[in-house]
Amino acid sequence: MSKVILVYAHGGTNPNDPGAVNEKINVKERDFIKNFFDKYLGAAFKAKGIETVFVQQSPNWYSIDKLVNKVYVAGDIAISCHLNASATASSTGTETLHAKGSITGEKLAKLVQSKLVGVLGLKDRGLKSITRDDRGGRLVAGTKAPCILAELFFVSNENDYKKAVDKQKEMAEAIVQAVVEFRQK
Ligand SMILES: [Zn+2]
Repeated sequence: MSKVILVYAHGGTNPNDPGAVNEKINVKERDFIKNFFDKYLGAAFKAKGIETVFVQQSPNWYSIDKLVNKVYVAGDIAISCHLNASATASSTGTETLHAKGSITGEKLAKLVQSKLVGVLGLKDRGLKSITRDDRGGRLVAGTKAPCILAELFFVSNENDYKKAVDKQKEMAEAIVQAVVEFRQK
């Protein structure tokens, strides 16, 4: 049975790369996603009997495609989650990135996006199709596995954070459900 490759944001524990930081509420993107993956997402996949492997960026972002390819076996998919941030405090919502031209990537992105919007209830910012040179493209468009990157919510927006922090279990189950449906169709 194929597995799901779960890619931590910003190195997982890389001290030099916290990702987006909201100092007001003391939340770092890297740490939020690490905790979400370790406590919720891994467990949610396990509960459905779906095999996962976690990939931590090391030593840096530029090797992420190689790290994912190293554990990839035909049929696998890769999922990464990040938090969005904006200088505009009112920016809000959920969006999902996939590789431009990847039919499987788009199919998975569509399912993940709609399930996440369903549980979070934040603005649906839709899908973004990106190329290898775009931000996040090395992972999303540069790996052998069909890959998506979900920007769960805006860490720069306190209301987004407040909604999401209590719904981590639901978010994890939403992503797992998307993968289940992706494999059925
Ligand atoms: Zn990020």
